[in-house]
Amino acid sequence: MNFLKPLLDIVLPPRCKSCGKIVDTDHSLCEMCFQKAEFISAPYCLQCGMPFENIDESANHLICPNCLKKKPKARLQRSAVLYNDFAQDLILAFKFGDRTDLKTLFAKWMLLAARDSLKQGIDVIIPVPLSYRRLVVRRYNQAAVLAKEVAKLTQTPIDAMNLIKIRHTKPQPRLQKNARAKNIKNAYRVKYPERIRGKRVLLIDDVMTTGATLNECVKLLLKNGALSVDTLTLARVKKD
Ligand SMILES: [Zn+2]
Ligand SMILES: [Zn+2]
Repeated sequence: MNFLKPLLDIVLPPRCKSCGKIVDTDHSLCEMCFQKAEFISAPYCLQCGMPFENIDESANHLICPNCLKKKPKARLQRSAVLYNDFAQDLILAFKFGDRTDLKTLFAKWMLLAARDSLKQGIDVIIPVPLSYRRLVVRRYNQAAVLAKEVAKLTQTPIDAMNLIKIRHTKPQPRLQKNARAKNIKNAYRVKYPERIRGKRVLLIDDVMTTGATLNECVKLLLKNGALSVDTLTLARVKKD
């Protein structure tokens, strides 16, 4: 197939996944668009991945105050980019606009963010599920599409049918922060606990907002016997 590539590039040159400008490599952004993505890089909280601002060199910035106060259940939490306007446009197109062609670009970004998790070891990848009702409307679960790509790149098994959503819930963004945890309480179930027992799970979703959904799933996976759970999202909303 590779010998066809130069020919295909003339007929169908690779284009920027955001603006459509012709670029050198497939599944990439042009320089202008790349500048608009805010990649999360060190320094960030080693536990929850929250980027640190106004860093005070003299202080120990390994763990953020939130994580020191209340140790999170997840082993590690990482995200590739900040959920700014640019990321939002791309993710909404991916989620609702059938732009599943963005999956390869997104997975490449997520792979970088997964470095710490991969170093500590991962046995299985699990996507955050949609309710059946929402899956029917959207036709695909964007988290599962990302999880499949990351599984391919890391050659890790994926178990997409194990964690399931057993009831429909209100969309989290429409709720106040304190109502979110309540909204999704007991909304998920692990169907085959024996498949995650003693395993190090990497839980994947598209966006981390308050983390309520991820936390609920982390708790449930641990309760069902997972050895550890890391979370990986494409983007995260910066807390104010
Ligand atoms: Zn572009
Ligand atoms: Zn933290």
